[in-house]
Amino acid sequence: MKITNLEIFHVQPRWSFLKISTDDGIVGWGEPILEGRAKTVEAAVMEYKKFLIGQDPLRTEYLWQSMYRNTFYRGGVIMMSAISGIEQALLDIKGKHYGLPIYEMLGGVYRDKIRIYGHCWGATTEKIITRALERQEKGFTAIKILVEPFTANRGVKKYIESQITCFAEIRAALGDEMDIAIDFHGRLTPDIAIQVIRGIEKYYPLFVEEACLPENTDAMARISAAVGTSMATGERLVGRGAFRPLFESGAVDVVQPDLCHAGGIMEVKKIAAMAETYYCKVAPHNPLGPISLAANIQLGACTPNFLIAEHFGMKEEWDLGEGYLAEQFVVEDGYIRINDKPGLGIEVNEDMLSERSFDGNWDSPRLYAEDDETIIDW
Ligand SMILES: [Mg+2]
Repeated sequence: MKITNLEIFHVQPRWSFLKISTDDGIVGWGEPILEGRAKTVEAAVMEYKKFLIGQDPLRTEYLWQSMYRNTFYRGGVIMMSAISGIEQALLDIKGKHYGLPIYEMLGGVYRDKIRIYGHCWGATTEKIITRALERQEKGFTAIKILVEPFTANRGVKKYIESQITCFAEIRAALGDEMDIAIDFHGRLTPDIAIQVIRGIEKYYPLFVEEACLPENTDAMARISAAVGTSMATGERLVGRGAFRPLFESGAVDVVQPDLCHAGGIMEVKKIAAMAETYYCKVAPHNPLGPISLAANIQLGACTPNFLIAEHFGMKEEWDLGEGYLAEQFVVEDGYIRINDKPGLGIEVNEDMLSERSFDGNWDSPRLYAEDDETIIDW
C-alpha cells in the first residue's frame, strides 16, 4: 500500500481535518492544527506531503521518526502538531487495513468506557453554576471551571478570596458527587497560586491546571510541594522529552498532553507510560473536534493511567461529532462507550466538510487587564 494524497479541510467552528488517501482505497483521518495557527500547521503538513507520497502508510513508527528527525531542528509546536495529525491518520489507515481499532494495536481493551468532563465557563459564579447544572443534567459527572478575574495584578486579598469563594459556591451548588477541576491558564505566579490552591483544597478539586506557566519546572515543583491538591499541566508541551523534568521534579500529578500537538496517539501513549512509572495520571488536553476526541477515546481504552477525556463544547454537539461523523459520540452517565470499529472507530461525513467549510483564518483572543491594559495570557 502507498500513500497517494494528503488534503486539509478547514471546517467550522475552527477545526482542520486531514484526509490521507492510499492506492488501495483506504483513507485515514487526523486533526493537525494549533489553536489560532491553522494555516501555519497546514503549510507544515503540505511540506511533509512531498516526503509522504509514495510511502507505505503501515510503517507508522518509521514515518514518525523520519518526520521528526530528518529536519535537524526537531519538534516545536507547529511541526509536532502537523506530525500529530498525520500520525492519527496513519494509525487510522493501519487499523482499517488490519480490521482492528487502534486500541487493539496498542495493548487491547483496558476499559470499555471513557470518562469525560465538560467545560463550564462564565464571567460570574452564577453563570458557571448554570452551565455546570446543564452539564450535570446531560449526565456529566465531572467539569472544569475557569474563574474570572484572571489575575491578581491589583487587589491581592480580593482576588484570592474571590477565587476561593467562587470554588466553594460551585462545590455547594453541585454537591459532593461532581468532580470539579479548575484551570488557571498559566496566569498566576507561584506565590499567588499557592495561596489560592491552599484556599480551595478543602473543596477537593479533581486537579488544578496550569497554576503557572510550564516553562519553569522548578516553579511548578515549588507549588506542588506546598499544596496537597493534584497538579496538572502539559497542554503546551510537545514530545516526550518535554515531560521528563515534570516527573523527575515531582511537579505534576496529572499530565495533559494534547494528541493533536504532542506528537500523536503513540507519542502520548509513550508519555503515559513515563507517567505510570511516577504514579501520575494522564488527562489529555482536547479543545478540538471529533477526530481529536476519537483519538482520545482510542488512547483511553488501552491506557491504564488514563484519568479522563475533555469535552470543550464550543459548538456543543459538534465536538461529539454531530454532522461530521456518521455516528456521533454519546455521553452517558459521564462516560463515552468505546466501539469496535477499525482505526479511529469513526466514519467522516465528507459532505459536511464543504457544507461547514471556512477559510481557516482565525486568531486566538487578545486579553488585557481592565485597570492598566497590560497583557493577560490567553
Ligand atoms: Mg488548560
